[in-house]
Amino acid sequence: MLKVSILDGYVDEPTCLGVPPYISPYPRYIAGAIWHFDRHAQIFYVTIDQVRNNKNLSKKLAESNLIIVIAGVTVPGRYLSGFPVSPYELKNILKDTQGSLKILCGPAARHGGFGLSGGEKIRETKLLFNDLFDLFVEGDGETVVYDLLKNNLDVEKTDPTLCRSDAHAVQKFAAIGSKVVSQHPFFPNYLICEIETYRGCPRSIVGGCSFCSEPSRGRPDFRPIEDVLEEIKALYRNGVRHFRIGSQPCIFSYMAKEADRNEFPKPNTEALEKLFKGIRCIAPNLETLHIDNANPGVLARYPQECREIAKIIIRYHTPGDVAALGVESVDPIVVKKNNLKASAEEVFSAIKLLNEVGANRGYNGLPELLPGLNFVFGLYGETKKTFELNYEFLKKILETGLLLRRINLRQLIPIPGTKMFKIGNKIVRRNKKMFHSFKRKVREEIEQTMLRRIAPQGVVLKNVFTETYRGKTTFGRQIGSYPLLVGIPGVFPLHQFIDVKVVDHGYRSVTAIPYPLDINKASLETIENIPGIGKKRATRIIVSRPFKNVDDLINCFDDNAIGKKTLEYIYLSSTQHS
Ligand code: SF4
Repeated sequence: MLKVSILDGYVDEPTCLGVPPYISPYPRYIAGAIWHFDRHAQIFYVTIDQVRNNKNLSKKLAESNLIIVIAGVTVPGRYLSGFPVSPYELKNILKDTQGSLKILCGPAARHGGFGLSGGEKIRETKLLFNDLFDLFVEGDGETVVYDLLKNNLDVEKTDPTLCRSDAHAVQKFAAIGSKVVSQHPFFPNYLICEIETYRGCPRSIVGGCSFCSEPSRGRPDFRPIEDVLEEIKALYRNGVRHFRIGSQPCIFSYMAKEADRNEFPKPNTEALEKLFKGIRCIAPNLETLHIDNANPGVLARYPQECREIAKIIIRYHTPGDVAALGVESVDPIVVKKNNLKASAEEVFSAIKLLNEVGANRGYNGLPELLPGLNFVFGLYGETKKTFELNYEFLKKILETGLLLRRINLRQLIPIPGTKMFKIGNKIVRRNKKMFHSFKRKVREEIEQTMLRRIAPQGVVLKNVFTETYRGKTTFGRQIGSYPLLVGIPGVFPLHQFIDVKVVDHGYRSVTAIPYPLDINKASLETIENIPGIGKKRATRIIVSRPFKNVDDLINCFDDNAIGKKTLEYIYLSSTQHS
């Protein structure tokens, strides 16, 4: 029997995320190719974090005829629930698997480099792993794997550069491979499936942005709406309830009619309506439906169509959604020298449009759909002035009262094949100090105020999933695109969904307490974080418990007004058995 192991070392690319709680299309499509070839094949899917936590799993990998590793980070992010594999780890994990054929898929193989963190030089994959892998997949993982299986695992006969003939070609693998999700450790409650609608960028006809690898995929090749729906239907049938339509350069440009000849094609509102409505029909009880990237140049040029699309998304999605706008820089010199997609004015109008349509608060406590901004530092033409202009731009957004869900400041990873690869990380190194002080300034002077607007004190955030502890604080997030980090003072059971009420703000996270809070049972750490209470009053509350009624509780306060205010956060459990 054909036995295949898929080791998911996670991917993070401009148009695809596969770090938990996300699962990217890579392992799903590859599993589909294997089952399409042999429906009885045994597939063992495992994540790098599972292997880190259980060394015996490395041995299980070795029991397979074929080990497929998926890895590669080209836009590193901040991760809470998993961390991408490092070259050193891979060597260690695979050192005792001599009997199995091993292939590497994902951006690490396709771009020939292993990026670890922003600003660092990419490390050449073939040099790193020359003796470890039998094949480096430079084409499409599922297509090459299928070819390899047809060739009876003969790598000599297999072309590692094979790509799918068109976007529809992956359909024969997409639905059938969906059942592999059940092996993911986050399945079913906390797993988000990243959904691909197309690859390639309309701006490839003008060379694309200097740092981006997407233009190497050519002009957009859209997956038919029926194909995307069919895949989501299969995932839904297999138990998935969280989806992000995140794998494409710009969701507003999906199915745009002139995408093969216009760098900013006119959006196709009917197609977006058909897609999002269709998803709701086939997955009626889904719990998360979010989007990701949007091109601000498209939003600025077609405000009417994009306003309509934003409304369509809001009609069918779940709140707390983010349209991540690739700004990179608002310095006109940097924009020009790097062939970026939008000027400062265009980005501003896109932010305004999204705020007008999406700033209303949804049922889970967060605004429906907000813009997020992505900046890249280390680009050609960057000077001290660039940092000043970017800061002024953010300040203007803040002062205008507009909302930004997220400001992502990252340093360039020079990807082979892009224009920036020749320049490398020279500019990153030169401007390193300026970057770090800019970052600090944005955190302190922009982001915290923004966060206070997005999730003000007293707002209830629904269904926060508790993920990890740091000291006596539990950290959790709602499920979705760019979820807000929530610190919950106290130690609460992990992997539970709880409602919380916001009490305070950090630079990039909020402090919140479970809502409503059982004051007769809550810990000191939690009670002292109720606004107006603090350590002294919290201690008095604890020694005066149990309270039989509200008056009892208020009487325990030195200040009645604070006692009454506390009632907004708490309830009194029955004290009969306490
Ligand atoms: S618009 Fe620029 S950054 Fe976005 S996918 Fe195209 S080339 Fe890449």
